[in-house]
Amino acid sequence: GKKVIYFVWPGSIRVYCRVRPFLSGKSSNLSTVDHIEEGNITINIPSKNGKGCKSFTFNKVFGQSATQAEVFSDMQPLIRSVLDGYNVCIFAYGQTGSGKTYTMVGPKELTEKNQGVNYRALGDLFMLAEQRKDTFRYDVAVQMIEIYNEQVRDLLVTDGNIRNSSQTGLNVPDANLMHVSSTSDVIELMNLGQSNRAVGATALNDRSSRSHSCLTVHVQGRDLTTGTVLRGCMHLVDLAGSERVNKSEVTGDRLKEAQHINKSLSALGDVISSLAQRNPHVPYRNSKLTQLLQDSLGGQAKTLMFVHISPEPDALAETISTLKFAERVA
Ligand code: ADP
Ligand code: MG
Repeated sequence: GKKVIYFVWPGSIRVYCRVRPFLSGKSSNLSTVDHIEEGNITINIPSKNGKGCKSFTFNKVFGQSATQAEVFSDMQPLIRSVLDGYNVCIFAYGQTGSGKTYTMVGPKELTEKNQGVNYRALGDLFMLAEQRKDTFRYDVAVQMIEIYNEQVRDLLVTDGNIRNSSQTGLNVPDANLMHVSSTSDVIELMNLGQSNRAVGATALNDRSSRSHSCLTVHVQGRDLTTGTVLRGCMHLVDLAGSERVNKSEVTGDRLKEAQHINKSLSALGDVISSLAQRNPHVPYRNSKLTQLLQDSLGGQAKTLMFVHISPEPDALAETISTLKFAERVA
């Protein structure tokens, strides 16, 4: 058979940062981002005695003009390693409005040029599976779930009957697993997932920013000469908004949501930083998200924490808090 090229992704945990552009009509000379240089980003921090700055270092920093294609191309080896049998997690982290969904899915008006990582990743997997078809036979299946207030919901249901998953000690939710063989199959399922996601939301209460959504792609490849089966899976996670809410301003359901988000994002940070520090105890049990992803975090698995920041000065406090979170897991 043909020679298969394996994909190299350096290290098991990498951290990327992306700055979204100013939204239309707004001036960009007020950006909190002073400059970006290779993996460094320097933030302006105004102080009493004039100008202050703070720099942060990551594996990669994308500025306002980075295209969807450029961003994807830097993640490609990671995505491709799923075909070699690796488990992969990609997390989009950041405050609401910082561009997480833009990176993972794209803007509301999707075109081929602006589509996000989810579509490109699946397209890439199908293309490579086709290229390797003389050597491997691949089977691809997807699941899509949402975690809201530590409850798991299956988003790939067609009967409109969205159930909370029973979650009886399983690592993988007993959510529908749909076999797909083309990008158009995936687009159809993602549309289904998106519309189911909207069901729990009211007009005033856009819940998508307060739940984690996870598209999981399971890939099974059989080596046609040896019969060996390789299994890899990839979790593409659009996390809930990381912004802190002011406890004196919210009450009831809103406060409960905020507490769940806070707890699960810090549990995720704790897991990734223990893995980065090679700490023998990894606290997976502290949130639903880390429990579900346990098999894909640590060991041979590969993780990309992709943090997003907004350039506006009024987002400065959240920007600093996002960059500190990212620095802790790097
Ligand atoms: P989040 O998911 O973090 O809440 P969104 O992805 O919804 O944020 O982004 C907020 C707004 O900014 C959306 O209108 C989105 O289309 C736009 N946006 C985000 N990132 C970019 C980008 N890199 N280029 C152009 N528009 C962007
Ligand atoms: Mg979003």
